[in-house]
Amino acid sequence: MKFILSIIVALTLASTSAFSEEPGGCPHACKPNQYEMTHATGTLYCVGCALKEQFGSKADCEKGGHQLAIKVTKCEDYCGEEKAGLIGTTLFFLPTEATLKIDPVKNYGKTVTLSGRYYFTAGVIEPEEVKIVTDDAEKKG
Ligand SMILES: [Zn+2]
Repeated sequence: MKFILSIIVALTLASTSAFSEEPGGCPHACKPNQYEMTHATGTLYCVGCALKEQFGSKADCEKGGHQLAIKVTKCEDYCGEEKAGLIGTTLFFLPTEATLKIDPVKNYGKTVTLSGRYYFTAGVIEPEEVKIVTDDAEKKG
């Protein structure tokens, strides 16, 4: 009888660990209510320049620098689950070693994928990796 009980306990523990893909228990060290490891793909643009062109905003990028962000077209967490709520939104990113390599002129309008922590309270992503997906309009060779 003790033997059977210990099997039941073992099975219960095994099924509990099957829920490890839930927030906080996923293998990517996401922290519920803090951040989630996220891949966000979208078009790189400057919010200041865009608002100036579209609505006559007084943003002064020449003095203050461009406010780079992406217009999200695709977004999922590291477990592959789509984050539909971010699609179509403007997503700002923190200056990191990866994003500081983005040339705002050369890469303007290109599709990029930013991967890293998405902070829920700030609504920004902290990319540890940046991939330029499209490489348009550039002459090769
Ligand atoms: Zn700008």
